[in-house]
Order: sequence, then C-alpha cells, then structure tokens
Amino acid sequence: MHARKKQPHHRRASRKKASTTDALLTWYDANRRDLPWRAKPGESADPYRVWLSEIMLQQTTVAAVAPYYRAFLKRWPNVNRLAAASMDEVCGAWAGLGYYSRARNLWRAAQVVANKHGGVFPKTVDDLRALPGVGAYTAAAIAAIAFGERAAAMDANAERVVSRLFAVEELLPQARARLAELGLTLVPEQRPGDFAQALMDFGSLICLAKRPRCVSCAVAQSCTAFRLGIAESLPRKAAKRPRPLKRGAAYVALDGKGAVYLERRPENGLLGGMLQPPLGAWGEAFPKQDRALEAAPFTGAWTKKLGFVRHGFTHFELEMEVYVANFSRRPNGEGFWLGAIELQRAALPTVMRKVLEHALDEDVPLFAAAR
Ligand code: SF4
Repeated sequence: MHARKKQPHHRRASRKKASTTDALLTWYDANRRDLPWRAKPGESADPYRVWLSEIMLQQTTVAAVAPYYRAFLKRWPNVNRLAAASMDEVCGAWAGLGYYSRARNLWRAAQVVANKHGGVFPKTVDDLRALPGVGAYTAAAIAAIAFGERAAAMDANAERVVSRLFAVEELLPQARARLAELGLTLVPEQRPGDFAQALMDFGSLICLAKRPRCVSCAVAQSCTAFRLGIAESLPRKAAKRPRPLKRGAAYVALDGKGAVYLERRPENGLLGGMLQPPLGAWGEAFPKQDRALEAAPFTGAWTKKLGFVRHGFTHFELEMEVYVANFSRRPNGEGFWLGAIELQRAALPTVMRKVLEHALDEDVPLFAAAR
C-alpha cells in the first residue's frame, strides 16, 4: 500500500482557513442576531442603515443604540433627509449616545453623500474612508455588508476572534495591522458581508472576552489559542494609563421665566460646537468660592448647589460644582437664552444636561422626554 502524500503546508493552511470560514458562516446562518439595522436573510442591505448603525455603534453597545437608531430612522429615513437637517438638530437627537464628534461627522458625511455623490453612498473601502467619521473598520463593514466587497471589518469582536484563532500574542493596539491581515485571509469571495456580521455575532455570543464558550464552539478544532490553552488571555492589550481627574465650576443663569443662558463651545476639540452653560477653568481642585464668583459670567446672587456633577470622558474624569443665579432682567452676553421646550431638543451633551438637572433640582430627569 502506498503512503498518502503529505500536502504542502500552505495548502493545508488555506484549507483550514476555508473550513473555519465555512463553519463560521454555518454558525451564523443558525444563530444570527436579529438587529433592527440588519437586512433579513436574502434581502440586500441599505447602505444608509448600515452606515448609520455602524457610526452609532462605535464605542457604544447594541442595547444603547437600538432606540436611537429607530428614532433617527423615523425622523430621517434616508441620507438626503438627514443632510437637510441642521447640525444642531442631529446633535440634539444624538444627546445621550456620547462622543459627539460622531454626531457632527454623521451630519458632515450626510452633506458629502447628498451633495457630492447625489445621495448615493460610495461603494469601495477607499471612497467610504473619505467620508467624515468613517475609519478603517466602518468603511470595511459598509463595503462588505452593503456592497459585497471582500473587506475585513475588524471591530473589537473580530479582533478578539482572530487573535485567538491564530494565537496572536502581540499587544494591541500594535497588533492591529497583523490582525487585519489575518482577518482578511478568512473573508470569503461570496458572502463577505455575512462573514463580517458572523464575526461580530460570534464574538458577542461565543468567543466572549471573559470565559469564551470553547466547549460549544464551532471552530474550536482550528483555534490555536484553544489548543494552547491561552484563549482567555487573548487579545493581549497594552496597560491603560489611569484617567486624570479635573475639577471646575459651571454657572447656570436663569431669567424670570426659567430660561437658561447658554454658550456654544468652539467648533474643534472636546464637545466641539455643542452648547453649555458658562464654565470656569478646570484644574486639580474645585475653585474656592471667591475665585469661582470672580469667574462667573455676570454679577449676580450666585449660590452654590450642594454636591457636584461627575462625568467620565475617554481621557479624563470631570467633576463640576454648579452655581446658580436668577436674573429678573436678562444680562447681556454673547450666548443666548433657551426655554424649557427648546432645551429638550438643544445640542446639549450629556455632561451639560447633568449640570442643568443638578442646577434645577429636577427629581424627574429634565431631558427624559427627549429620548
Ligand atoms: Fe473563541 Fe474558544 Fe472558539 Fe477559539 S475555541 S474561537 S477561543 S470560543
């Protein structure tokens, strides 16, 4: 009897990858999540919906995004309608989702698609990346899901799965390019969009960050990290630096009818273009009361509310004490006054909403109706 000829290594490796891809697609067909922005099996995906959901999902969970996605789609059912809205309207509807630069870029990208591309989304990863707010992952996800381009959409789920399948021990974020390269080797010619979504779902349901479900995993046979017993320790990440704490004062001026004085933040930088009550400088400690009063926007009978407002940004924590004053006549300033109804839809970021709720002693959150 002849011994079977051993296949060359590269051929075995590519067979193994193809069977991993097939197994992931089969798993997806049986277990796919039913998400509001996802096309049903056999339906083609609407690029507007894919783009809108992907921008919303950046740094946010599926559960948090779902009500916002539905509200946006109801109010602005296509990109031309979104482009016709003002940036303030879009940022106002976004309030609560955080990272407001995403809302501004969403609006800017809608302008580009509506005005430069005649309301039709570009199809390739490169052209999609030229849209404001669309990075490598989002461009690949839209290109694959909406246009069937063979692109690797590497979000945190996909990176986790790929790092384990190939036992990549290099630290993130440096490992990102290598993971994308390896991820692309798994993407099939047919159904690249389903494959992108398969990795997302598989990472969310099976290949979990903590305690991956390796015993019921459809690709355990070909998972190197599982074989080596190091799955849970991957992907390895560079240690995070602790976030510094900043403190300051906010000034909430009210007129006789309860309207609030607000200013607009500069276009660029943190919360760019959003509204806020006037703020003092931020430092390591809260300003002493006499210093805080010197920095108030108007001379008046300011009183400090008990306690403070706390909010976490990506790179720092912020605590603000809140000073309140009532003015029977509106003092002059470069900002403007908004009444209760207008406040509901104003482009006020969550941290500033917290400041106003603290200032106005709202038992029921002032902005609940806006959600
Ligand atoms: Fe993830 Fe475990 Fe499956 Fe590997 S065997 S892909 S670590 S769930």
